[in-house]
Amino acid sequence: MGNQPPEPDEGTVPGDDTSRRSFLKGAAVGVGAAAAGGSAGFLALRNEDTGDVAAAMPASEGYLLIDPEKCAGCQSCMLSCSVGHDGEASLSQSRIQIVESPFKGFPDDIDVNHCRQCTYPACAEACPTDALHADEETGNVRFVDEDKCIGCERCIEACPYDPSRVTWDVNSQTAKKCDLCADTPHWNEEGGPDGSQACVETCPVDAIKFTEQIPAQVGPGAYEINLRDEQWAELGLYAGDAL
Ligand code: SF4
Ligand code: SF4
Repeated sequence: MGNQPPEPDEGTVPGDDTSRRSFLKGAAVGVGAAAAGGSAGFLALRNEDTGDVAAAMPASEGYLLIDPEKCAGCQSCMLSCSVGHDGEASLSQSRIQIVESPFKGFPDDIDVNHCRQCTYPACAEACPTDALHADEETGNVRFVDEDKCIGCERCIEACPYDPSRVTWDVNSQTAKKCDLCADTPHWNEEGGPDGSQACVETCPVDAIKFTEQIPAQVGPGAYEINLRDEQWAELGLYAGDAL
């Protein structure tokens, strides 16, 4: 699919790297490492030179997986995202971004661009005020505190994905990003890792799935899942692992 992630050195930090310090402050000491695909908990960073292991940012307790080949491009998820968070049906205010290319053919014509709640989130690392942080109260989703955000947009630039999964909120004039619907004052369901997510609930073809398991962070198909059923297989199109 279109947006290939960069290849971060997963689980390690260069020997003299001070840019990771924001992960280290406030983190518990002596916790075990959790490999990608493991259960949520504290993750660990291993210093490549010294072998020291340090606690990093606590892992999010939830993630979204997507099946871009199943996505119909209807943008229902975008509208439900903006309605739940902002009380208005606005594609530009959505935190999940469906991008359709008229120059590509099916199944490569649609990209589902969603926040990965990264284990080592560059967005949070870049924030000078800790406005963007792992929020303990909402299951450690990578969360923007509007009151702390000074609008510098460093997080938007730092997110390694294109388009950035941190976007600009024209109403509050702050950064905003997916919080797994933890803060959705205009939605009458409980969101967050322990609740529901508007995009998952709204998608008419069930192309988005919530999981508590940490997805593989890099490589082809990261954060993707085959959600197609037998009917797709009967069409001779997409018999995959999930069938
Ligand atoms: S905004 Fe980007 S860097 Fe931050 S958690 Fe989401 S995908 Fe990762
Ligand atoms: S725009 Fe706000 S959340 Fe983003 S880096 Fe700047 S202060 Fe932090």
